[in-house]
Amino acid sequence: MSKLPSVVAMDGPAASGKSTIGELLAERLGYIYFDTGLMYRAVTWLALDRQTPVGDEAAVTALAETVDIDVLPPTVEDGRQSTVLVNGQDVTWALREPRINANVSPVAAYGGVRAAMVIQQQRVAARGHIVMVGRDIGTVVLPDAELKVFLVASAEERARRRWLEEQARGGRRTLDEVLAEIHRRDEIDSTRPIAPLRPAEDAIIVDSTGLKPGQVVEEILRKAGYST
Ligand code: C5P
Repeated sequence: MSKLPSVVAMDGPAASGKSTIGELLAERLGYIYFDTGLMYRAVTWLALDRQTPVGDEAAVTALAETVDIDVLPPTVEDGRQSTVLVNGQDVTWALREPRINANVSPVAAYGGVRAAMVIQQQRVAARGHIVMVGRDIGTVVLPDAELKVFLVASAEERARRRWLEEQARGGRRTLDEVLAEIHRRDEIDSTRPIAPLRPAEDAIIVDSTGLKPGQVVEEILRKAGYST
């Protein structure tokens, strides 16, 4: 088994299992888990809260450059993976609302928003011993990460997972609606000119379709040469 990576970069499309797998892998390695999607969600939440039109790039960028976002270990035991504070306010569950899903990809496509978030992400990762998950971690945020993972799963399986999660929280969308939104987000995320969703050249690609989370983690460690 080779020396463990100090930093793990994990990317993949919407609902590919990044948060479940990222958290499990972090636990296995004794590392911190950090979900960068929460930061783009936090900027989107603030824009909606302030009634700033999400199509107004300059105004949304100004919010991203001045907002104070804290991503902390859970402060309440209600099933959350992290606690997110926006300018001191706990918005953890609000970040999962459909209105955020519907608006986050256009917000995350703005260059100024990305620049503001990437600086903070690099600062967090500099401490090491972290599994950082997102869309551009291996390509832009941490191009020198020793281990890069790109998670994939079929769109149908991803939609089914997200739909089951929503149902458990009392959501009302149909499976087809969830699938349509996943396709739309993937399309925006992978075709945007700045930091599009794609695997880094040296990423290992792992397909989680039909696998349990523990099996995916084993597959990552095996493919990366960290276990037999
Ligand atoms: O991972 P999650 O679905 O929470 O991310 C929400 C959105 O944030 C993604 O659809 C994508 O538009 C954006 N994002 C990004 N870069 C990241 C993480 C998330 O553009 N590193």
